[in-house]
Amino acid sequence: MNNDLPKLLQAISFAAKKHATQKRKGADEQPYVNHVLEVANTLASVGKIEDYDVLIAAVLHDTVEDTGTTQEEITKLFGSTVSSYVLEVTDDKSLPKARRKELQIEHAPHLSNGAKYIKLGDKISNIRDVSENPPDGWSDERRLEYIAWGENVIAGLRGVNASLENYFDELISAAREAIEKPQ
Ligand code: NDP
Ligand code: ZN
Repeated sequence: MNNDLPKLLQAISFAAKKHATQKRKGADEQPYVNHVLEVANTLASVGKIEDYDVLIAAVLHDTVEDTGTTQEEITKLFGSTVSSYVLEVTDDKSLPKARRKELQIEHAPHLSNGAKYIKLGDKISNIRDVSENPPDGWSDERRLEYIAWGENVIAGLRGVNASLENYFDELISAAREAIEKPQ
């Protein structure tokens, strides 16, 4: 759907409420909603994505996984296309973490293009955080392992958006350099 600015603003307001009490894991404890806004912003500004269903789903991408939101709630408010993108990028939290991480690699090639864009934006935001504002207590080794895993997820979905993929590649090179050779 194109040019649905009111729905995008509604999604931003919805996500801000749903994530209201959550913080990112970095030392500066940014509000969680900053991350989902950064993902949507990256898709629009770097990826030049103009499809509002994708931008709305990017804003909502962690609501089902990390808040009490149901898929039905998203479908009712934002429609089935948005809801299906959100579901595609939602991990099954009943599985052990290691299995969830393997499944992201296995599922990446089979995602819709919309979900692939959101996955790219999500990994860009998380790897930027791992580089610039890592979770408390993470060793350099753990930060590098996260980057390598993110690279493996993205390897399975390449060919959808050259700008986002080039941006991702530059970011991981810079992140590795910053972690391996700190100033
Ligand atoms: P987690 O899944 O626990 O944490 C990363 C996730 O937290 C992100 O995907 C992101 O998800 C969210 N997040 C919130 N705030 C931040 C932030 N500031 N920076 C980055 N992410 C944030 O990480 P893992 O347990 O997967 O650890 C990463 C790697 O380290 C793995 O490959 C694992 O195998 C390895 N590992 C190493 C250990 C060691 O001591 N060496 C111990 C445990 C794991 P979202 O977008 O959903 O918010
Ligand atoms: Zn996310």
